[in-house]
Amino acid sequence: MALVVQKYGGTSVGDVNRIRNVAKRVLDTKNQGHEVVVVVSAMAGETDKLIRLAQQVTPHPDEREMDVLLSTGEQVSIALLSIALKTMGVDSKSYLGFQIKIATDSAFGKARITGIESEKVMNDLKRGRVVVVAGFQGVDDLDNITTLGRGGSDTTAVAIAAALKADSCEIYTDVDGVYTTDPNICSKARKLNKISYDEMLEMASLGSKVLQIRSVEFAKKYDVPIHVRSSFNENPGTIVCKEDKDMERVVVSGVTYNKNEARIEIMRVPDVPGIAAKIFKPIADANIVVDMIVQTSSTEMGCADMAFTVPKTDFAKTLQIVKETIKEFGGKEVKSNEDIAKVSIVGVGMRSHSNVATQMFTALAKEGINIQMISTSEIKISCIIDSKYTELAVRALHDAFELDKPSVTEEQ
Ligand code: ADP
Ligand code: ASP
Ligand code: MG
Repeated sequence: MALVVQKYGGTSVGDVNRIRNVAKRVLDTKNQGHEVVVVVSAMAGETDKLIRLAQQVTPHPDEREMDVLLSTGEQVSIALLSIALKTMGVDSKSYLGFQIKIATDSAFGKARITGIESEKVMNDLKRGRVVVVAGFQGVDDLDNITTLGRGGSDTTAVAIAAALKADSCEIYTDVDGVYTTDPNICSKARKLNKISYDEMLEMASLGSKVLQIRSVEFAKKYDVPIHVRSSFNENPGTIVCKEDKDMERVVVSGVTYNKNEARIEIMRVPDVPGIAAKIFKPIADANIVVDMIVQTSSTEMGCADMAFTVPKTDFAKTLQIVKETIKEFGGKEVKSNEDIAKVSIVGVGMRSHSNVATQMFTALAKEGINIQMISTSEIKISCIIDSKYTELAVRALHDAFELDKPSVTEEQ
């Protein structure tokens, strides 16, 4: 007997028939003799619908109340799934995040899980019940409802698997695994049998939404292997686990894109010590994560231009903070652009290869795509481009690094 945590995403619980399909899969797992905890997302499109509702009231809704609103999507799906399970004769019980004390900090809209009281869940499991948990939500020290950021149900599932020391954590979605790039925009995308936590971490942080980044951070920290699978078929999926010798030995393992960032540029800031700290401290204090930063070299006037990117959801707030900060330097000009995309290539094999960046820039140049910003790390290279070229860039990079061809290890 194993303890299995299964997470079903929005499309997998998108309508009543799909919820019945999930209940059937849970029943099958139970009939195999396993204990099951199920984490579910809101039905497809529901979270977006709730966001649009709030925006009809005001363009900048209060963050605490937003989390009260957004957490309701998951309340509907846990109840419906539990009802479906009971109809099939399965004893089950649904819980919201606060009821099993999924404790988080108070960063509304992007809260981090700090602990889970597993006792209640364990007691139910001991009684032979299936436990159905609302993904994406928690509660802070002051009993405020919090949400974990878009795609946060993945993180709920992995955190529960870690807290319960589950034997497996399965993430069921609308594709049957992790691919070399988004299979919905590149028909040549190829499914990977296995991927390391580190590569998946990069893919997730660079925009591959198949797993939320924090779920992979949790998985790596507590060594919880994740099995990403489809809820619509029985195909074996992708195992996300520690790097091992069976993994593909390739330089580049994936291509990602992210259209959720915006660029802010401050023109001619004084090029003296302490300026970057002055600009970025108030942004960090507002809990906003800055991604790429580029500073031009100093001009004759002793000034430099500073450009950086932030998530689109934090764009308006950042712009306001920046405008306030630069008043101190005599109100310099600020430019911004929301029509950007970040395309990236990821691979642990890059560590030992020198010409990967050139290959990437050449592939983009061949398509006439201009690069606005570049950033690199040991295992990734990212370029900011005009968002209208995103799909073209992803396909060009997938072709350039021949990601459609399996490596020797995968063919065995
Ligand atoms: P869920 O609602 O089940 O959480 P998501 O929409 O959050 O599903 O994530 C699944 C989607 O992730 C897929 O439909 C696919 O378009 C996208 N995706 C992006 N990059 C990849 C990738 N490398 N491999 C697989 N899917 C990817
Ligand atoms: N319902 C939330 C969202 O749409 C959480 C999730 O699906 O994981 O982002
Ligand atoms: Mg998701």
